[in-house]
Amino acid sequence: MTYEKETRRRRSFAIISHPDAGKTTLTEKLLLFSGAIQIAGAVKGRKASRHATSDWMEIEKQRGISVASSVMQMVYRDHVINLLDTPGHKDFSEDTYRVLTAVDSALMVIDAANGVEAQTRRLIEVCRQRDTPIITFVNKMDREVRDPLDILDEVERELGMPCVPMTWPVGQGKRFGGIINLRTQAMSVFEAGSEKRPQDFESIPLKDGHARLEQRFGSAFTEALDSMELATGASPEWNHADFLAARQTPVFFGSGVNNFGVMEVLDALVDLAPAPKARTSTVIVNRQPEQKTIEPADKAFSGVVFKVQANMDANHRDRIAFVRIASGKYSPGMKLKVQRSGKELRPTSVVTFLSQRREAVEEAYAGDIIGFTTHGGVQLGDTITDGANLQFTGLPFFAPEMFATVVLKNPLRTKQLQQGLMQLGEEGAIQVFKPDAGGNMLLGAVGQLQFEVVQHRLKTEYDAEVRLEPSQYTSARWISAASPDELKKFEAAYPLRMAHDAANALAYMCTSPYDVRLAQERFPKITFHPLREHA
Ligand code: GDP
Repeated sequence: MTYEKETRRRRSFAIISHPDAGKTTLTEKLLLFSGAIQIAGAVKGRKASRHATSDWMEIEKQRGISVASSVMQMVYRDHVINLLDTPGHKDFSEDTYRVLTAVDSALMVIDAANGVEAQTRRLIEVCRQRDTPIITFVNKMDREVRDPLDILDEVERELGMPCVPMTWPVGQGKRFGGIINLRTQAMSVFEAGSEKRPQDFESIPLKDGHARLEQRFGSAFTEALDSMELATGASPEWNHADFLAARQTPVFFGSGVNNFGVMEVLDALVDLAPAPKARTSTVIVNRQPEQKTIEPADKAFSGVVFKVQANMDANHRDRIAFVRIASGKYSPGMKLKVQRSGKELRPTSVVTFLSQRREAVEEAYAGDIIGFTTHGGVQLGDTITDGANLQFTGLPFFAPEMFATVVLKNPLRTKQLQQGLMQLGEEGAIQVFKPDAGGNMLLGAVGQLQFEVVQHRLKTEYDAEVRLEPSQYTSARWISAASPDELKKFEAAYPLRMAHDAANALAYMCTSPYDVRLAQERFPKITFHPLREHA
């Protein structure tokens, strides 16, 4: 019973936006108003991540900052809310994708002047693929921005689902009067400044008379009523089930920096956003894999490593593995193991994330994120259990789109290089391929910046200076075969193209887009996977 009660009051969501839309500001206000932090400004350190360049210091800062604040927990209205940040830089999009596998909903922040911007679009795509419910917050209404109807139109187009306005703005910029809450039919009056608490904003019920409001807010008010009517007329009725199935998005307007319209979002996270859902896992029964549904309130503990992050301090080579709990309860001292290797985890190193601070975990349930320090042996996608025989899949790795060959400057540092590459590979910072035929290691990335980060980190953390040389490879495909025989034949046909990645999965390295097609024609029983899901 407690398990059910605890999981039902969990909300885990990711906050997604284009840089500068106001994600940091909104995050901070959510933490502030839930009581997780006491003073505004506490999240401001994250600012450094806004304009990631290929400047080393910037990367270092970004890394450190994202360790500190990538998971934040707050308690509001007796609900435990886990907020997961998503990396801002497009070169780390893979990372973001994995973060989105660990949440049950997403909060999309858009700048009312700019609408849906490039990076948000990419994130939306990922949410769409997973049918992740999305709550939309239209920010910066205190500025001269676009017409709200126009914004809704764009969001609908981009999301491919109808918008259902929950609040509606009265005016904007200099004439921003406030927001009408469609459910309560009351207008909350805007006041600039960041000292106001949400409860301090004046609230006027619409039934008190439109004339009075019109007098106070002028034509902005009548225009708002008109456009609100248009918007609600054009959108479907609010339907909670449709929202949960990612078939409609509730839309809120406000101004994060002015604390305005934020409480409505916080309440929506409690009232609308979903609690953890059941997940499918593979269990081995009589040596045969079988699919099994794992309910969040199941007694057995299980979770998935969706992120591995190096610590800032280069002298301590420990890393934090982030685990999203899928079922059961974690309590201190509990013995956990890595399903893949059977290796036990040291129970002393587990932490939870209460706002900015890392604190020792008291207890954690499905939906919560726990982190534990590791010195290796834990990979992205690993299933962690208290002994139950099950394995989650679904953490995706994309076939890299760019490659580089690693050349070590000082051959005496081979051991350091190998260790560094193994760990960075496990972390998902880069994909590492070891050619079966020997020779230099290959690095595969989705974004150019990944190469630079890895080169820099190999030097500073592992004392292994490398040169990255252009590689002839343009892509890779993970390989599976209908039979071991078939696989042997394939490997024999392309001995120089075979490589193993950090998880020891076999890959076929391509030099042109035609490679796969030709190889496929020759070997119809071989499957070429552009995406590897951890198994
Ligand atoms: P992030 O890059 O998405 O994390 O964006 P930030 O939260 O750092 O905000 C970017 C800039 O927009 C900062 O200068 C904020 O002060 C400003 N900002 C955030 N919210 C609002 C708002 O509601 N109104 C106005 N005028 N500015 C805002």
